[in-house]
Amino acid sequence: MYQFSSKSLERLSTVNPLLQDIMKEAIKVSPIDFGIPLYGGLRTAKQQNQLFKDGKSKCDGIKIKSYHQSGNAVDVYAYVNGHASWDDVHLGIIAGVVLSVADRKGVNLRWGGTFGSNEFHGWDKPHFELR
Ligand SMILES: [Zn+2]
Repeated sequence: MYQFSSKSLERLSTVNPLLQDIMKEAIKVSPIDFGIPLYGGLRTAKQQNQLFKDGKSKCDGIKIKSYHQSGNAVDVYAYVNGHASWDDVHLGIIAGVVLSVADRKGVNLRWGGTFGSNEFHGWDKPHFELR
């Protein structure tokens, strides 16, 4: 059984309590360890805009707002063999666990792995948001 580091918990504490609940339960049953990266929780418009400029987000934070700016989104990364991993397979396994926990709680959670179409399909696998 895995548990969040104090850094991950601190980042998680900035988002909607429903998301916190889901993630805290998911980490206990996930077969893969995971954490919350820097800017993985609540973001200011300025932080969001910087991520956009860095090409790491499709929301500029001003005209197109991210769910991260309202605390209704959270990002994760996998932690495998002592290293952070954004591998599709690892993130897919974590998403399966997170989505099943949300489903059990009756929460409508959207996974970024289902976003986009054609060549952009599934571009945001670390991301979960409340609808
Ligand atoms: Zn995100």
